[in-house]
Amino acid sequence: MHRRKFLSLLGGAGIASTLGTTKAKAASNASFDGYPDAMGVLHDSSRCIGCRKCEEGCNTVNHLPKPEKSFDDLSVLDTKRRTSATVHTVVNKYNVAGLDHPIFRKQQCNHCMEPACASACFVKAFTKNSDGSVTYNGDVCVGCRYCMIACPYSVPTFEYDDPLDPLIQKCTMCHPLIKEGKLPGCVQSCPKEALTFGKRSDLIEIARERIRKYPERYVNKIYGETEAGGTNWLYLAPVKHTELGQPVVGKKSAPELTAGALGAVPMVVGIWPVLLTGAYAISKRKEKIAAEDQKAAVAQAINETQSAADDKLKAAMEKAAKDKEASIERETKKAVANAEKEFEAKLAALQNPESEEVEESSKPEGDA
Ligand code: SF4
Ligand code: SF4
Ligand code: SF4
Repeated sequence: MHRRKFLSLLGGAGIASTLGTTKAKAASNASFDGYPDAMGVLHDSSRCIGCRKCEEGCNTVNHLPKPEKSFDDLSVLDTKRRTSATVHTVVNKYNVAGLDHPIFRKQQCNHCMEPACASACFVKAFTKNSDGSVTYNGDVCVGCRYCMIACPYSVPTFEYDDPLDPLIQKCTMCHPLIKEGKLPGCVQSCPKEALTFGKRSDLIEIARERIRKYPERYVNKIYGETEAGGTNWLYLAPVKHTELGQPVVGKKSAPELTAGALGAVPMVVGIWPVLLTGAYAISKRKEKIAAEDQKAAVAQAINETQSAADDKLKAAMEKAAKDKEASIERETKKAVANAEKEFEAKLAALQNPESEEVEESSKPEGDA
């Protein structure tokens, strides 16, 4: 476990533990109405032409990496795509039986009024802001990815490619731009007014008016009005929303669905430090085992090296001893051969003394 994250987790758990009861009540409040003046976006599939300009706008305002295929390449629409750590919105194409043209639907975070991601996150990395956006704080995220499991729309994505500090990524409803009074990047870029930004309550009125005025163009349903307790992103479509891959999620929000379970949150929050201390102990134990393994491996290597050196020394000494023996034998044989020669010479002199006298008389006088 990353130390910084572990410490932040401990800090978050400690704070949550201290404030446990209050937070749990807020999280389990089944009658939260969202923020009545919050903003939202309405996507109208009957106007959308699948041009991907919204994808490009999102990519630009969020300074995301450029995709391999350009945004002008519409062949990518032949495959169903999902958002990812570097793509916060995608437009998909749906061929619906009985229609002679495809329908396009844009997808991104729906900015739930009571977000499941936020209620699943025990370090409170997600915030439902009063402007309607749901934003994420990577500084407190511990990377547990419960938000990914909790989201009914499979929106949060994880930076699996970042081994050092992976974070969750998703659409922010361009919260920083909204704060400056500007439109979200995708809304700015749409050439067909398929995207309308405004107060959620106004968007619902606009959508109802379009359905009333053009009943042949729309099914009588605003997707997001009640789904999962309501979302700030809303959709109009000429066909059933399920035909466009939108899931049936029911009307209850995540906190409402889990109100009973959340009643136990103070207790659960209270045991987090215990669990985390356990996790820390396991982590330390692993480190200790690793250190012990390393120590044993070094000792074994030293022993093996020492043993190999001893073997080499012994072999060298044995060779030296053998060499010495051979040398002594050689010298002894040489000495014996010389002694034999000398003995034979003396024996020959004794057997023939004249030759010795001649030898003596032939010596110079000074030699006497
Ligand atoms: S769509 Fe998913 S990620 Fe977005 S606010 Fe709702 S639960 Fe959270
Ligand atoms: S609101 Fe902003 S972040 Fe979300 S899809 Fe649109 S451009 Fe992307
Ligand atoms: S820019 Fe507008 S028309 Fe084009 S794909 Fe996006 S929502 Fe549809």
